[in-house]
Amino acid sequence: MKKAVIPGSFDPVTNGHVDIIRRASRLFDEVVVLIGVNSSKKTLFTLSEREEMLRASLSGFPNVTVDSSSGLIVDYCLSHGAEYIVRGLRDAVDFSYEHELEINNRFLSERVETIYLSAGSDNLFVRSSSIREFLSYGVDVSSLVPEAVVEYLEKRRS
Ligand code: ADP
Repeated sequence: MKKAVIPGSFDPVTNGHVDIIRRASRLFDEVVVLIGVNSSKKTLFTLSEREEMLRASLSGFPNVTVDSSSGLIVDYCLSHGAEYIVRGLRDAVDFSYEHELEINNRFLSERVETIYLSAGSDNLFVRSSSIREFLSYGVDVSSLVPEAVVEYLEKRRS
């Protein structure tokens, strides 16, 4: 059974994330979307909000689950029987960051392989940090995030 972990902050989950998750769900038997918990990193949405938004956005993918971890991604993979990490690449900046991460992860364990999926053309410029900034100015982000997230943001505002 091939199991993959897709780690990230998902603060909040975007159309770009969902595209990568959807494509990974067709390549692997099981996919775990793993929210990395880093107490020194301030996030706009709490862990449970990010979990809730991910679960609502991914309900159509039966082989995808959501989990969180404050430890090393590689340790999570090894203890949960996942041999693959999937990452999305938007551009060369993403690649150089991701490549360094991959080298570090391989140093930790050669049993976990990193696989890259390129961003779809609609999502090349979609990033959580821009969405957070747009939200702070009251900009409509509904074309950039899954429908379930739009509803979630509306509910939170009211
Ligand atoms: P962001 O980079 O938007 O803050 P995360 O840190 O949560 O998002 O990233 C989790 C993973 O999703 C990373 O591998 C990142 O490169 C990927 N990713 C983020 N946005 C996109 C996108 N628009 N298209 C493809 N992959 C993406």
